[in-house]
Amino acid sequence: MGAVRDVAVVVLGISLLVFIALFGHVPGLRNTPIGFAHRFLWKTIPRWFFALDRAVTCGRLGPVLMGTGDYLMNEKHPIIMAFYLTLVTGGIYMFTKDGWKHLSLIHRMCIPMVATLPYITMYLAATSDPGFITPENHQRSLQCYPYDHLNFRPGNICRTCQLAKPARSKHCSICKHCIAKHDHHCVWINNCVGQLNTRHFLAFLAATNILLSYGLYLSFSIIQSFIVRALIPSQIAIGTLPWSVYLHLFGIAIVEEIYIGAVFLLCALTGVLSFAFTTYHLYLIWAGTTTNETIKWSDWRDDIKNGDILLADPEEDDDITELDADEMCRDWPRVTTQLFYRIDPTNGGDIPRGIIWRRVQGLGEIDNIYDLGWGSNFRDALWPRDFNAR
Ligand SMILES: [Zn+2]
Ligand SMILES: [Zn+2]
Repeated sequence: MGAVRDVAVVVLGISLLVFIALFGHVPGLRNTPIGFAHRFLWKTIPRWFFALDRAVTCGRLGPVLMGTGDYLMNEKHPIIMAFYLTLVTGGIYMFTKDGWKHLSLIHRMCIPMVATLPYITMYLAATSDPGFITPENHQRSLQCYPYDHLNFRPGNICRTCQLAKPARSKHCSICKHCIAKHDHHCVWINNCVGQLNTRHFLAFLAATNILLSYGLYLSFSIIQSFIVRALIPSQIAIGTLPWSVYLHLFGIAIVEEIYIGAVFLLCALTGVLSFAFTTYHLYLIWAGTTTNETIKWSDWRDDIKNGDILLADPEEDDDITELDADEMCRDWPRVTTQLFYRIDPTNGGDIPRGIIWRRVQGLGEIDNIYDLGWGSNFRDALWPRDFNAR
């Protein structure tokens, strides 16, 4: 039992650390122990390191680490892609080396297809156009979504691209371009995820999940049959073993069939993260939002909690529905009809008069005009309007 417990603790520990490092910044986790641990990992520990460096080496290591960190975080590089491909290739090699002889013909035929998918979908996602906004397609990109006057307002010019930012777009400092309907810059595909390549990104996630599930199923089956074949008497059915005995034998089988055991642990370890990440992205599409927008919505939630958001009821002042009259031409069936006022230090709380305001109590009162219902949201994500096409 000791071996199994040690393996379980290591697997759990590494999973938690990777989860905190990669997902701790997600707005929903901001004020949870995961969010605090994320800030500790990325802010407090580096601060301690720099203080130690100043005391011990007079700050010689700091610039080197800063330069490396800056390159890793802010430049396009294929290091994480290479890491992913090494894990996949290494996993497939380890599995086929010891597992191939245990497989039936049907699995021998399926494995090449399932194992090839991550390479193909990663290539497609990495080389796809996420929706780069250029002087040529800029006017058409402006027509895709109206400004919601909440998270996206007209008149913002990107200082790098020198173009007016379309609604839902964001400048990616790594790709050095404004990206239409920007979701996030994905280090796993070394590319942005945006309006035109969300489907490539989802295909890559799906291929990864299929490979991990299939790898988990096959390695588990082989470990299971090893227990039956080599570790228990033939007259005892494996299903009748007590859990403690079964887990003990499972630990022995992992050590005995070390390559298959390693694949099992690898699939179990990374599968949880991959499925969680995929579920989160499917949820974002379902809700008609993006990773970039959830950060903005999270700020709204905090301001609502502080009582800083006021809403003018359209029935009290019909004129405000004319706010977006100039945007009705855009290729989107919804425009905002709500008028909000955000109390913050820059406006000194100088609330406009002549409008009847009420304090917003919850995020549900704020209309997300980019949410058309889950069916249309998925259609918009998977079959996007290509503003490059003339
Ligand atoms: Zn830009
Ligand atoms: Zn990018």
